[in-house]
Amino acid sequence: MTTRISHWIDGRETPGTSGRTAPVFNPATGQQTGEVDLASAAETGTAVASALAAAKAWRRASLSSRSAVLFRFRELLHDRSNELAAIITAEHGKVLADAAGEIARGLENVEFATGVPQLLKGGFSEQAATGVDVYNIRQPLGVVAGITPFNFPAMVPLWMCANAIACGNAFVLKPSEKDPSASLFLARLWREAGLPDGVFTVLQGDAEAVNALLVHPDVAAVSFVGSTPIARHIYETGTAHGKRVQALGGAKNHAMVLPDADVDMAADAVVSAAYGAAGERCMALSVTVAVGDVAGPLVDAIAARLPKLTIGDGAQAGTDMGPLITREHRDRVAGYVGAGAEAGATVVVDGREADVPADGFFLGTTLLDHVRPDMTVYTDEIFGPVLSVVRVDTYEEGLELINSNPFANGTALFTRDGGAARQFQFDVEVGMVGINVPIPVPVAYYSFGGWKASLFGDTHMYGPEGITFYTRGKVVTSRWPDPATSSVDLGFPRTR
Ligand code: NAD
Repeated sequence: MTTRISHWIDGRETPGTSGRTAPVFNPATGQQTGEVDLASAAETGTAVASALAAAKAWRRASLSSRSAVLFRFRELLHDRSNELAAIITAEHGKVLADAAGEIARGLENVEFATGVPQLLKGGFSEQAATGVDVYNIRQPLGVVAGITPFNFPAMVPLWMCANAIACGNAFVLKPSEKDPSASLFLARLWREAGLPDGVFTVLQGDAEAVNALLVHPDVAAVSFVGSTPIARHIYETGTAHGKRVQALGGAKNHAMVLPDADVDMAADAVVSAAYGAAGERCMALSVTVAVGDVAGPLVDAIAARLPKLTIGDGAQAGTDMGPLITREHRDRVAGYVGAGAEAGATVVVDGREADVPADGFFLGTTLLDHVRPDMTVYTDEIFGPVLSVVRVDTYEEGLELINSNPFANGTALFTRDGGAARQFQFDVEVGMVGINVPIPVPVAYYSFGGWKASLFGDTHMYGPEGITFYTRGKVVTSRWPDPATSSVDLGFPRTR
């Protein structure tokens, strides 16, 4: 018995008509649990038309009434987060506590967006010229689309939709087809919160729906989070069609551990950030750069922690790490472990040999030491529970390694030396930096985004830059008629 997972258009569930669907699995059992509709270009057009009509009305809603909807949505999401966490775990596989964590980080963005009256305040210059005032306002774009990855089926949509809607746009979400049910749960909560029909739309689908959104003339902007090749395609196609685009891509995040670091604390942090969510996080630490003589003790400390992790169904209490998203992805990750070994890396812990449940898409934790930068295990984003240790002699060598990587999403430094930490923050060419913090995802009132091949576009996601992205500025220069000073003057206006 599988569940049909449909679109959400005009405030209600809308079965697809394309005749194309994709299977949805519970990765912990390997069983198919759902069948998701895949939208055609024609269905994409229907969804955008509904969103456009809704956007025209929604931009007229007062700031306080928008804020009231967000407050109600926040309460509903908060109160029903356990239900949503169960939905995420059943389709993604991450453990329930981790699913609850992603909802909590998503909620932060809703809370930030409740402050939209404050966020949209403009500037005002009285008497910019005699009798002339100048002020700026920020207005919504219209219909904006969000295309999201499988690994955060609630948080990443919330990064986008809370601010987009608060700013007065209609938001069309194209979630990952691998775990699409969370999007419908959010849609129902938005309706219950009083959001007018059509302001939040869910278009289930794959590349066909995405490509239709990218060329649709009524889609003003596209926010994307996913892998780098697709991010590049989204950015190039979207901007070529006149859209504003922010496209966040993949990652290869390095943790540098200096010789003075507390080895046990660094090992705890690195293990948490490398293997949490089975490494399927864009902020996962997949490379540890061990500087000098910290390498031996650090590798030992990491290796000692791995057998203590419980791998299994994320819905079961006490599980630390769940399965990978699909069988194909699990096999691909296992292939990297083999490639690393063949290329000469030392396999300290081999995830392929772990005692994991036979059903489902499980793989144990892998620790590779003596990894060199020319190995595929180093060059590629693996997106699985595989941690590579690269040994270097000096801080400078480690920094050079990090800065020459094409990805630049997140990084972390472990040290007790404040001066070294400050130097690292100054030197490192990465968008998000942790100082003794392994997963430095910015809080909602900053903005999220990497550099280089981890982000295409000019604005980072959510926070103040999210508000900038989902609005466009207008400057008004005004003079109220004053018969005493009115005259004909053909000269260019001056500020006198
Ligand atoms: P993905 O790129 O395969 O898919 C992302 C979205 O793009 C999905 O909605 C998918 O349906 C769509 N898509 C896939 N192929 C497409 C194509 N050919 N044309 C148009 N659209 C297409 O990514 P994923 O596997 O779902 O997620 C994992 C990736 O996302 C990793 O690379 C990870 O680093 C990245 N990620 C990045 C961040 C970040 O903030 N930088 C956050 C989370 C995930």
